[in-house]
Amino acid sequence: MLAWADLREPQVRTFSRSSPGGWLLRSLLERYDHEHAFRIKIALVARQQTGRPDQDPKLLVSPIVNKECPRCQWWDRCLPQLDPDDVSLRIDKAPLDMREIATLRRHGITTITDLVDAELDQLLEWYLPEVSHRGGAEGRIRVAARRASMLLEGTSFDRETIGPIEIPQAEVEIDLDIESSADGRVYLWGFLLQYAGESGAVYHEFSQFDDLDNQSEAALASDAFTWLRSIVDATPSALVFHYSAYEVAKIIELARREHTELLDWAASYAEEHFVDLLEIVKAHYFGVSGLGLKLMARHVGFSWRDDDPGGLNSQLWFAEAVHGETAELRSRARRRVLEYNEDDVTATSQVRAWLRAQ
Ligand code: SF4
Repeated sequence: MLAWADLREPQVRTFSRSSPGGWLLRSLLERYDHEHAFRIKIALVARQQTGRPDQDPKLLVSPIVNKECPRCQWWDRCLPQLDPDDVSLRIDKAPLDMREIATLRRHGITTITDLVDAELDQLLEWYLPEVSHRGGAEGRIRVAARRASMLLEGTSFDRETIGPIEIPQAEVEIDLDIESSADGRVYLWGFLLQYAGESGAVYHEFSQFDDLDNQSEAALASDAFTWLRSIVDATPSALVFHYSAYEVAKIIELARREHTELLDWAASYAEEHFVDLLEIVKAHYFGVSGLGLKLMARHVGFSWRDDDPGGLNSQLWFAEAVHGETAELRSRARRRVLEYNEDDVTATSQVRAWLRAQ
């Protein structure tokens, strides 16, 4: 598919002091020209620095942490210039954008302590007109202030409801987690199978450490669902738990592409019998850095065997497991992926048990 975007078309919501609504749609080229001109001004002022603060002109910008920082070559220079409690450094979930942070700083609010100490209703009077480029700006600053307060208290999660948390229960409970390669192919289906009243849980995995195509990806999924169907046929009340909508979305995508009887069954079964634990967690908790499985599971006392667990890392390990230079490297990467996946399903099961105990 070829898509054509007219860069002169006004389509980006930008701040505008002169516009009655406080914002205007501008084209990407206008935005580029404006930002480029500003960078030239920044550079010209920076070039006048002599190292004598009493005589040097004030720099036009100071670092504001944003999503480019982790990959930016200047990070080592910028980090020391930030207060360790800088709002942009500490609040990493739904972070305020550069204009929002710059507006707070202009009014003396730099750290999370400053933000917590601010009287929010008064702050909104000068803050909102300056951040009208953002829909929902009031909600964003209120949530940021809540996060700042939790950070100061050292609280990771706030319960938003009271009473027991209802989690569906079954004679057979299965936790599912899938791993996919960088090109989105599911190469690993991991299940943790647990029978009510029995102490141990058993991990079952269906994996193929190869560059998959449509056919091999569907064949692997069929192996996984042949197994799952045999469990479900024997115990129709079985439930499958997962954490996030990704698993169900992937199964539906595969079924729509392949149209086999088994994958159609899997898609209908997933829509009707799978339980997304994340949705339950969202209904009851607010997390200072979100409600991801890694955070939640660590909160309940679970730890991964790997020092650096994460979906993106698992894609790198998969690539190494398939294309690593030596058999030993490939084997080690393969073991790492499988352990990571087993820990993911175990974490899901432990979060589930913890929620039930609340
Ligand atoms: S590290 Fe510094 S220069 Fe790089 S994006 Fe972040 S604030 Fe900007």
